[in-house]
Amino acid sequence: MISANAVTAETDSQDPKVETAQRRLDRLSNLVDVSDEYVERLKYPSQVHHVSIPVRLDDGSVEVFEGFRAQHDNVRGPYKGGLRYHPDVTAGECVSLAMAMSWKCALLDLPFGGAKGGVAVNPRELSTEEKRRLTRRFAEELRSFVGPQTDIPAPDMGTDAQTMAWVTDVYKMQTGDGTRGVVTGKPPRVGGLTGREEAPGRSTALIVREAARYYEYSVEELTVAIQGFGSVGSHAAQLLDKWGASIVAVSDVDGGIYDASGLDVDELAAKSGPLEDRDAGDTTAVSNAALLELDVDVLVPAAIGGVLTEANAPDVTASLVVEGANEPTTAPADTVLDERGVPVIPDILANAGGVTASYFEWLQNTNGRSWTHEQVREELDNRMLAAWDAVRESHETRGINWRDAAYAVAVERIAESHETLGIWP
Ligand code: GLU
Repeated sequence: MISANAVTAETDSQDPKVETAQRRLDRLSNLVDVSDEYVERLKYPSQVHHVSIPVRLDDGSVEVFEGFRAQHDNVRGPYKGGLRYHPDVTAGECVSLAMAMSWKCALLDLPFGGAKGGVAVNPRELSTEEKRRLTRRFAEELRSFVGPQTDIPAPDMGTDAQTMAWVTDVYKMQTGDGTRGVVTGKPPRVGGLTGREEAPGRSTALIVREAARYYEYSVEELTVAIQGFGSVGSHAAQLLDKWGASIVAVSDVDGGIYDASGLDVDELAAKSGPLEDRDAGDTTAVSNAALLELDVDVLVPAAIGGVLTEANAPDVTASLVVEGANEPTTAPADTVLDERGVPVIPDILANAGGVTASYFEWLQNTNGRSWTHEQVREELDNRMLAAWDAVRESHETRGINWRDAAYAVAVERIAESHETLGIWP
């Protein structure tokens, strides 16, 4: 372990991603009905854990990876958020994403705070056995900071249900706690929830539908381009298609496919391999960059962060952007889209189905009552629609854009809790 100590908030606040998150809070402090000092407190993470993870690779050599867990705020309940495996993972990125988890959980009125962690690694370059060893060592390094009542990890970019199964197993083997509530997003046969996997895509589709209706589009006539065909993109595409929308483009890391008359997304989701080989109609190739500029009603960036920038935002032709990925729009791109009158419905609302289903999974593990798929869908939809209503009201009454409207609701809820408790001691 390099250090299990919290790195200073000052170091993290020099990170550009953290600075952006902090500037947004500055802007919000005038909009929310809570004293500035409680909003100021939310600019800093409670703790950032930095660990080293030595892994024996299949060729017998040892590589040491860096891992992080940023815990932002826990005034509403245990820290909650994903673990991501991606080469660009840094302490600063984890802090800014942990802040977003605090807002997301508060917006959905879940009894959780915000956290995010990850390892700077390209999981595509590791074998399954290497990933298993990496995950088990990472879980062991995190063990004293996580737990069903302290901090509950979940899948994120580059990790999946299998990764979470390994984390649960380490926790059980090392602590003797077999309740499995230490991590969510597990496979259903080891305490996971049926419907957790589809949940962020389902919530993204629901919010596309509600936002489209708000701007007086009929869902049956909607054309949609989705960047990313992973867990979020594929489930959102299938649900929107079921409701009658036309999904004209989807992509993966290697590029995308386009069909003006609509893709057969069920066929695409049923197959694997490169998208253009999956034979889903009369498709043409489209690059990930060109997909963002397609002339469609709704653009859903549902892959990686930072894809909408100051450079391409002027060329976005869609009438509405709904963020399926975390942080796909940079702050300068937000300003451009705002000035151009293109509404952007933020990630903390649209993809919040993931953590909401995680909450149901955690309840299932902590009180031992299992949920049916129907119960998961019904409760998820109800909570998403309640959050949509709260954000719509904030947007209308405060006269601010959708992102600020969502942040205002969330930050107000968290800051009010801090105000009630006061500053310790
Ligand atoms: N990684 C997901 C997110 O960013 C899910 C987090 C969770 O379920 O805790 O929302």
